[in-house]
Amino acid sequence: MTASIWRNLNSFYNLIGSKCRCSELHFPEAHVCRKCGSTALTEHEFSGKGKIVTYTIIRQQYNDETESEKLMIGNPYIIAIVQLEEGPMITAQISDANPEEVTMGAAVTSVFRKISQDGEDGVIKYGYKFILA
Ligand SMILES: [Zn+2]
Repeated sequence: MTASIWRNLNSFYNLIGSKCRCSELHFPEAHVCRKCGSTALTEHEFSGKGKIVTYTIIRQQYNDETESEKLMIGNPYIIAIVQLEEGPMITAQISDANPEEVTMGAAVTSVFRKISQDGEDGVIKYGYKFILA
């Protein structure tokens, strides 16, 4: 694996973004600061705490059960824009919650979960999701 792939994996497992010398925080990681244009950015690990800014409930019609299971997201599932307590906003799935439990402004915290599996014995991918705090 190349270094850049490892860096990307790191940001998926640990909510690693970047911090500029001007103190602007970025997630996902940025190489140029959107505020001041500097390229002097260092890694920054976010707390994983945030709140739901807005969300949507997605209900899908699948041709068969296995198609739905392969995606491992549940049906229906909840996708939210989460504002991290440090400021940046990210789009992520809200896991382990019924649609009626989710509200705008609700506190959430990040967790690392199985995202997909490629076949019965295939590669399992993990990534971040959020749960109600
Ligand atoms: Zn900056």
